[in-house]
Amino acid sequence: MKKVLITGAAGFLGSHLCDKFLNEGYYVIGMDNFITGDVKNIVHLKNNPQFEFIEHDVTCFVNVEGGLDYILHFASPASPIDYLKIPIQTLKVGSLGTHNLLGLAKSKKARILIASTSEVYGDPLIHPQSEEYYGNVNTIGPRGVYDEAKRFQESITMAYHRVHGLETRIVRIFNTYGPRMRLNDGRVIPAFMGQALRGEDLTIFGDGSQTRSFCYVDDQVEGIFRLLLSDYVYPVNIGNPHEISIRDFAEEIIKLTKSSQKVIYKDLPVDDPMQRKPDITLAKKLLDWIPLVSRKDGMLRTFNYFETLSNEELYKSEHKSFDNHIRK
Ligand code: NAD
Ligand code: UDP
Repeated sequence: MKKVLITGAAGFLGSHLCDKFLNEGYYVIGMDNFITGDVKNIVHLKNNPQFEFIEHDVTCFVNVEGGLDYILHFASPASPIDYLKIPIQTLKVGSLGTHNLLGLAKSKKARILIASTSEVYGDPLIHPQSEEYYGNVNTIGPRGVYDEAKRFQESITMAYHRVHGLETRIVRIFNTYGPRMRLNDGRVIPAFMGQALRGEDLTIFGDGSQTRSFCYVDDQVEGIFRLLLSDYVYPVNIGNPHEISIRDFAEEIIKLTKSSQKVIYKDLPVDDPMQRKPDITLAKKLLDWIPLVSRKDGMLRTFNYFETLSNEELYKSEHKSFDNHIRK
């Protein structure tokens, strides 16, 4: 049985990856320090004999008993609100954490896939973004802590590949959503859905003309799985190219949730990218992969999940704001 280590296992994507690899017959070791994750995302795996969990901060030396075939490094805060709140931990997990996992991969002769992001393109000057684009990142802005950690992560991963011949894979993930996102993580989908469920108006940052392209988690996980098993070492975009402005998206959510709320406008956070849409030509060609879940279906499944949360969970999600980080 192949053995895989998944860091960030108690988070949104990490927990879905644990499910995927278990379903595919792998032995899965999950690792997390719960800084932005939640044990409830993996509690259903507690008695699964093919799953074990190690509570550990990957910025400290990482050790795992026995052999390993694959490592998926997904530990990192991923929501702008999280990484603005814990910027140093974000830089450390992308740099020191990645270094530790590359070292572990080298010692175990394991293949490693690291979770990079569309944020390496910053506020992009070309559209849609293809893998050849070098990006437009403000290194010293508040988002720089995440973007630069991920850019460093890509560089050190390629260096391990070139110097040590390590088998490496890099996925550039574009906005992905689905069940198990934290309702208060500040990302736009949980933010709008939480507001709809609480009967609050939906907060649009800026004038809402900025765009995003949302990928349902099952599609994302399938793309990552195929990339891991491919033989391609350079970065690959995985995301859904169906682009929408945040203003139109808010209207879609109001319709979907059959709520009677309005939208209200707040300041746009510093360095908030104005447009984002993946060019997925490479993923299509290399992995024979395209996203299959429509935004309508994916949003419905996600809303159904948020509807099952208790009132306590719904209301503990205090509305966090970007007030200290508004665009000057
Ligand atoms: P998440 O916050 O739900 O999950 C991240 C997990 O990593 C959490 O469980 C957290 O506790 C854990 N973690 C953070 N620092 C750690 C450390 N030092 N040691 C051990 N565990 C640690 O976020 P997510 O959306 O699931 O994102 C997972 C990965 O995917 C991240 O690397 C993120 O950068 C990347 N990504 C996600 C998206 C997206 O749209 N969801 C987009 C681009 C990239
Ligand atoms: N956004 C918004 N209202 C919210 C939360 C987010 O208008 O309550 C906007 C945010 O400014 C950005 C987009 O929605 O333009 C996507 O934000 P998210 O935090 O989900 O991810 P990003 O793609 O910016 O990392």
